[in-house]
Amino acid sequence: MNEIWSWSVKDIHSALKRRDLSIVEIAEAFLKRIESTDSKLQAFLTVDPDAVRRSASELQSRWERRELRMGFLTGVPVAIKDNIITRGLRTTCASKILGDYIPPYDATVVSRLRREGVLLLGKTNLDEFAMGSSTENSGFHPTRNPWDFDRVPGGSSGGSAAAVAARQAPLGLGSDTGGSIRQPAAFCGIVGLKPTYGRVSRYGLVAFGSSLDQVGPLAHSTKDAAYLLQGIAGHDPKDSTSARRPVEGFVEEVGKDVKGLRIGVPKEWMADGLAAEVREAVAAALGRLEELGCEVEEVSLPHTEYAIATYYIIAPAEAASNLARYDGVRYGYRSPRTEDLWTMYTRTRSEGFGPEVKRRIMLGTYALSAGYYDAYFLKAARVRTLILRDYLDAFSRVDLLAGPTTPTPAFRLGEKTQDPLEMYLSDVFTVTANLAGIPALSLPCGFTDGHLPVGLQLLGPHFAEGRLLRVAHALETELALDTEPPGLHDSQ
Ligand code: GLN
Repeated sequence: MNEIWSWSVKDIHSALKRRDLSIVEIAEAFLKRIESTDSKLQAFLTVDPDAVRRSASELQSRWERRELRMGFLTGVPVAIKDNIITRGLRTTCASKILGDYIPPYDATVVSRLRREGVLLLGKTNLDEFAMGSSTENSGFHPTRNPWDFDRVPGGSSGGSAAAVAARQAPLGLGSDTGGSIRQPAAFCGIVGLKPTYGRVSRYGLVAFGSSLDQVGPLAHSTKDAAYLLQGIAGHDPKDSTSARRPVEGFVEEVGKDVKGLRIGVPKEWMADGLAAEVREAVAAALGRLEELGCEVEEVSLPHTEYAIATYYIIAPAEAASNLARYDGVRYGYRSPRTEDLWTMYTRTRSEGFGPEVKRRIMLGTYALSAGYYDAYFLKAARVRTLILRDYLDAFSRVDLLAGPTTPTPAFRLGEKTQDPLEMYLSDVFTVTANLAGIPALSLPCGFTDGHLPVGLQLLGPHFAEGRLLRVAHALETELALDTEPPGLHDSQ
């Protein structure tokens, strides 16, 4: 574990503080790691090594001149999902329609990280506009799973998850509208946290489903995830849905005792359709939580069967409205074959968007159209309230919920691309946290016989991120899994 690329945030911080090495050397180590692994993995869409080197030496000299405080994230490289706006650095959403887009401003999460002295390493691949569960919907190329190159890393934050899992970056930012942080975290054997809706600013996160989207951390460990969440959480006047709630010390939560906490396991989640290997790993982890002094009991989330139908009305409806802005007028791609305003709109959008994005726009437009609105969108909005109530009922009895993050481990590239419904079904355990706005975390809890990671999902009441991190850390320490994918060297 001596290679710099395998270090934790704390290791990097301590080494910098002791002046054992400089931010420039940190940057070099990770750039080299990316160079030697990314031709196979394809986790990144944009890396500008010279810019990374420049900002590393600038940070180093600002620190030496005492203009920069050495916080926990200072000098730590972070991989940023490419639907998070970065000033001066191409931001594509993995879509041809934004293929050359260089934003004039930073997302709030990015400006906060810059202020901390974080090293922005590059922009990572995703399903186009974050629509998908495998990163195969990227308009550029798929990303591969570092545990098995024939398998998907999950999606839509597959690039950030694969990059972190493959130790190309100690930390990654993802976004989660229906599972896009937690599902790739589970597939890649790392920790991923979707914060409470409103906990982290959405300003500068390219909108997909505005009532569902949240930015959150991907990391090797719970503690590292806590550091990154600490760096991005908090009220932002630029996002009217951001919560005014003060941010507690997430890092301090990690390491606290979990004895006596009541954990509910939704019986509808441990049912048919769950792969036996996932069920076994999750059940074993629940047993370990009991050994740690937690009380584990069965609970019910009776509206689980409507989760996918509800999400796949609401998310596309919001997406269809949000994506209306890509019209070739203001920014992004414009078709060169335009005769008038109408053909400019239609050709720009036909050529610029990929098939899944078009499918969502059509689904959403249909669900919102006159005559169908009541039957689809309104109905889904009502069922969303029932799903929220299921959670609130459960949390009146237990402190948090635990279950599988995904019904199966990472699937093969191409396995679900011909059948969109199959792909949608892989989100069955993740979409409801977004519909309800509650925080949820995935951590590795074991492996299948074929040595693919399995994720355990922990869900808490609104703003209970600290509790999730505390329990996740206790379990992570207890399990002590080796989550470094083997064979990344030999695979070049
Ligand atoms: N897989 C889900 C979808 O395709 C969730 C995506 C996300 O969370 N961004 O919509």
